[in-house]
Amino acid sequence: MDLSLLLSDSKPLEIFKKDKREGELSHAYALFGEDVFAMEWLLREMAKTAVCPVGGCGKCAACTALDGGVHPDVKFYSDRLDVRDVNELLEDCAKYSVEGGLKVYVVFQLDKTLAPAQNKLLKTVEEPPEGVLFLFGIVKPNAVTETLRSRCKKLYYTGVEQSRLEEALERECGENENSRRAAAYAGGNISRALKFAQDAEFARDADDIIALLGSMQKSSGVPAEAARLIQDKEHVARYLDITEIVLDMMEKYKRKLTRGGGGIAHIAQSFSYAALGQCEYLVNDCRKRLESNCAPSAVLDTLLFGILEVKYKCR
Ligand SMILES: [Zn+2]
Repeated sequence: MDLSLLLSDSKPLEIFKKDKREGELSHAYALFGEDVFAMEWLLREMAKTAVCPVGGCGKCAACTALDGGVHPDVKFYSDRLDVRDVNELLEDCAKYSVEGGLKVYVVFQLDKTLAPAQNKLLKTVEEPPEGVLFLFGIVKPNAVTETLRSRCKKLYYTGVEQSRLEEALERECGENENSRRAAAYAGGNISRALKFAQDAEFARDADDIIALLGSMQKSSGVPAEAARLIQDKEHVARYLDITEIVLDMMEKYKRKLTRGGGGIAHIAQSFSYAALGQCEYLVNDCRKRLESNCAPSAVLDTLLFGILEVKYKCR
């Protein structure tokens, strides 16, 4: 499925292309956003724009080499960088460009890298050698030091318009149940849409969670509700992911950013903004409990009782 067509006219890329055209490329860019799929695609396009003689044609030797992952002056980093990785990167920065153009370093999720390695990187981002370009993707801004962020030109990716994403999904996967769910729950987030469209079980679990959030009335009913769900660690982790998505979709619906399909509009009525905020906090707390090996069934109870409590406290 190729949803990247939705991204070719997105704002961050336009700004970057303009900078390149006008010879005003900054030495470091930070692209902020939540949609990992979209950001990875955009960062690759930005790298292509930087090394292509005509700003990212997709056909020339430089573009083809980059697409094939063999451009000698462009390096991609998908994982967390440790201090040793950063040292290697910095050594590489100091070398001459093979093709005579820019040397580009793309870190897809800089927020995965811990502070010591970030600090190591900082000095070079502050005073980079001539002809070096850093492209950073940042999903969790708080996980990147303020100084490092402030040394980059900031670009913000805010998502695809939901109606365009819906159309693309229908075109790509036909009008089946999964693509309908994907469109309803994705809220303009391509990574999320792909997850729903390609994973039928995930989509079915989402229906269960939404039904449950809608029907949950009294704490005495929670054990029976919980009993209908599968309570191993993997499933509870999925339920947490789904609950987070559902909360996000309710908030987007309240702010009139989505149409509230898939039952979202119905359940959003019984959650105030304050309740949504507290539920989000609760999901994070439950995730920590699950990771520290609390019994999955106990984590699920904490989640459901917690949501019920918050829902009524913040009415
Ligand atoms: Zn090209």
